Amino acid sequence: MAEEKRAVTMDKLVNLCKTRGIIFPGSEIYGGMGNTWDYGPVGVEMKNNIKRAWWKRFVQESENSYGVDAAILMNSKVWEASGHTSSFSDPKMDCRECKSRHRADNLIEAHSKGTVNPDLMTNEEMEAYIQEHHVCCPICGKFNWTGIRTFNLMFETSRGVTDESQNKIYLRPETAQGEFVNFMNVQRTTRAKVPFGIAQVGKAFRNEITPGNFIFRTIEFEQMEHQWFCKEGTDSSYYNEFKEKAWKFLVDLGFNEEHLRFKDHDKLAHYAKQACDIQYLFPMGWSELNGIHNRTDYDLTRHQEYSGKTMQYVDPVTGERYIPYVIEYSIGADRLMLAVLSEAYDEEALEEGDVRNVLHLHPAIAAYKAAVLPLQKNLADKAQEIYKKLCKRFPVTYDAAGSIGKRYRRQDEIGTPFCITIDFDTLEDNTVTVRDRDSMEQIRLGADGLAEYIAKKTEF
Ligand code: ATP
Repeated sequence: MAEEKRAVTMDKLVNLCKTRGIIFPGSEIYGGMGNTWDYGPVGVEMKNNIKRAWWKRFVQESENSYGVDAAILMNSKVWEASGHTSSFSDPKMDCRECKSRHRADNLIEAHSKGTVNPDLMTNEEMEAYIQEHHVCCPICGKFNWTGIRTFNLMFETSRGVTDESQNKIYLRPETAQGEFVNFMNVQRTTRAKVPFGIAQVGKAFRNEITPGNFIFRTIEFEQMEHQWFCKEGTDSSYYNEFKEKAWKFLVDLGFNEEHLRFKDHDKLAHYAKQACDIQYLFPMGWSELNGIHNRTDYDLTRHQEYSGKTMQYVDPVTGERYIPYVIEYSIGADRLMLAVLSEAYDEEALEEGDVRNVLHLHPAIAAYKAAVLPLQKNLADKAQEIYKKLCKRFPVTYDAAGSIGKRYRRQDEIGTPFCITIDFDTLEDNTVTVRDRDSMEQIRLGADGLAEYIAKKTEF
């Protein structure tokens, strides 16, 4: 079984991330703040690389796809039209004993070990299940619940400086609406013909009440979303195409296909015709990594209705007017980061009982493409010269402290694909030793060809 072989656990990942500058608990010196995390010097590079790889695949290399960067704060009518104001909510229950708050659906899923699907239940049915099966509070172990209350996940804020001018607005709970409200702007300015796509990478906010599992579920996160606008009738084949594209992206990032699976939604949202997730085998078990949804013409139709502005596309050849269908592909950058780290984490047994901790990251995702390591202090000038040259092409780190073995290990732990050692021969013939992170093999290369060699090996 794939699960049994893996060295990774959530505790090990959290610890590695904290000690190696990848991810720190949010507001840590004030005791932290639940479900928030800060990316450190190594983590910010990795996450930027994840976003870059996604953008490259789904915008740059994707014919007829265009990017936008819409405002986080949007006119409140957007959320009325999208249905978020009335129905973006979770069924919550409070434990009267320890005052902790839980999602009823999560309690049922955990209690039934995934054999019961709460998505198919009404609130009354969920309450009845919890009563019948005596589902206790996972924090204090007692059984003393309030009834279910629905809880809107959108964060509210207000604009204006005086009370009179206060006007309730929301932090966006998803980036998708920024693409929908700009459908006409993008189509007109690019003269794109349907089918075409609009993509966005940006922050979204949800007042999640369930425990986060590190960066799996946070209250502030980044989404990478791609909406494909197509004609009704072609939607199902594009839905299948995006399922394949989403899967291939993960495989190309280095995911083992045994750790991925499709999961069709049992209960479709009112606007959806087809919907599935790709689940990943996270350290805590199989969970959603990304979603692919056939949203029909629901969103554009609603925005046309609420804004009074047309969302109809006019076919330039036939003159036909219609509101396109939308295939949505949505993945969290932070959730993908957690999956990438889980997949890359390894503890390798070496000779003499030694263990090497290593992140087998795709080189394009690694924070630093190479580490420059002078063997001795008096080689610093040459090492600095090589380091400064490489920095102009990609992020490179420099480490002159400690034994060379320890320095290799530090780089292995953060997944740096190449270590470049500068020795006395470098002064003579301008060659360096290049050590490969995965095989640990070393080759000798001319310093002048180094940048080209690394660039080629770290491409996505
Ligand atoms: P979940 O069932 O896990 O709450 P969802 O079905 O509500 O997720 P979507 O609304 O489809 O998720 O969002 C698309 C993607 O955004 C998810 O597949 C996930 O990768 C990411 N995502 C959603 N909520 C969060 C969150 N609270 N923290 C981090 N990533 C998130």
